[in-house]
Amino acid sequence: MSSPTSQTTISPHNQQPLVTRTYPSEAELNDVIEHSEAAQKQWARVPLKERITIAAKFMDEFKAMSDVVTKELTAQMGRPIGQNPGEIRGTLERAAYMLSIAESSLADVSLVNTDKPGFRRYIKRVPMGVVLVIAPWNYPYLTSINSVLPALVAGNSVILKPSPQTPLTAERFAEAWTRAGLPQGLLQVAHLSPELTAFAVTHPKVDFVSFTGSVVGGKAVAQAAAGAGFKGVGLELGGKDPAYVRADAKLDYTVAELVDGAMFNSGQSCCAIERIYVHASIHEPFVAKFVELVKQYKLGDPTQPGTNLGPVVSVASAEKIRKQVADAVKAGAKALIPEDLFAAAQPGTAYVAPQVLVDVDHTMGVMMEETFGPVIGIMKVSSDEEAIKLMNDSPYGLTASVWTDAESNPASEAAFLKIEEELFTGTVFLNRCDSLDPALAWTGVKNSGRGVSLSKFGYDQLTRAKSVHMKIKTS
Ligand code: NAD
Repeated sequence: MSSPTSQTTISPHNQQPLVTRTYPSEAELNDVIEHSEAAQKQWARVPLKERITIAAKFMDEFKAMSDVVTKELTAQMGRPIGQNPGEIRGTLERAAYMLSIAESSLADVSLVNTDKPGFRRYIKRVPMGVVLVIAPWNYPYLTSINSVLPALVAGNSVILKPSPQTPLTAERFAEAWTRAGLPQGLLQVAHLSPELTAFAVTHPKVDFVSFTGSVVGGKAVAQAAAGAGFKGVGLELGGKDPAYVRADAKLDYTVAELVDGAMFNSGQSCCAIERIYVHASIHEPFVAKFVELVKQYKLGDPTQPGTNLGPVVSVASAEKIRKQVADAVKAGAKALIPEDLFAAAQPGTAYVAPQVLVDVDHTMGVMMEETFGPVIGIMKVSSDEEAIKLMNDSPYGLTASVWTDAESNPASEAAFLKIEEELFTGTVFLNRCDSLDPALAWTGVKNSGRGVSLSKFGYDQLTRAKSVHMKIKTS
């Protein structure tokens, strides 16, 4: 069977073709990579301050595109129109933070206080070269900015390969950088099939691959890269993020935050809340309040301002989610949301009714595998120890959150800190979830990935250390 030569994006809400892009040939892709390498060599000589100035202008240009970007996001990925400004705000917030720490993060590390007489030694951070950024569709701007901006600011060139679901997002990014004055060839967009992506990943002139996406995609990319020498690969992958609600949690606040954490973007966030463990003493009121809030969602056409729950990304994804719920129910789970409350949720469409499952356990896929849909499983626990054990019982390790009244009770803060030590995840939250702070390292363990983006450490994987060792006195 011959490989596809183009891709067509289907809008999730109406299943209509939205945009088609033709793939390059291998020779054309090779040219893109060669061009990227040549442009990078010039760019690395541009003073950091100038690179920062261009990046700051990019932010203005991107902000000016807000209206068009908002509409395109809904058409490409189905997120309700009213929720897209949050992605633009978050993208700019991350960009601003990474710019604010660029000079300190990329500065030479001098050894003044420990230097040896007659020597001068220091460590530089130099760009990797050509960075291939492979992006997912679910937060296409938020995930791309994590790598694209720090890579360019650090003196790399970037080839950005967007998801076939959100091809316009990479094109808009490139447009904004070009308007900001980024020299040609430094940010090129490549729409690629998996085969062409493998070609790029294994290309000797691609120096680093930054992948954000599923575990399956991440494995394919890491395996391809491993067969092509020792190039670095950063992997930001999926999650099955748990929340633990302690007996003293503020109930209304906690329920509202966790419903949002589970349902926002139809649950299609890498750090969405996917499983909840609630202390037995408050399990009943917690579940009742949770169900009441979930019933209030308006599932429907995401282009309409009143909608706050859109379709999932595709009919195939919807079928997978429905099957996971049906399998859980078959195995003894109880579904608390009557599907007929949500008229739009019809088989054969990408509209999935939100669902709250109780009487679930860890033999069920819904508690172990990433759902990526508006579905939550809630289990009763009787102690911190039991909650820790269940939260860690997962092939994933992106974030975990603990909900307890640390504000009025110092013992609860102490309990949180003890629980935090036992949790094997990249991030542990107290009384919040489904959130990224650009000042903190974004990272996962186990199947959730490898490497760090954002924070000071986000610059580390996009640069390499180079030691300069000078013997000044030779006599
Ligand atoms: P995906 O793995 O299907 O695709 C991600 C990107 O990789 C796309 O550009 C895709 O075209 C490409 N790709 C996929 N398979 C490939 C292969 N075999 N070879 C080469 N390229 C391949 O993921 P998705 O559906 O776009 O995104 C959703 C997933 O991403 C979820 O699992 C989510 O949890 C994860 N995610 C993680 C983070 C994070 O920060 N950890 C952030 C957002 C999304």
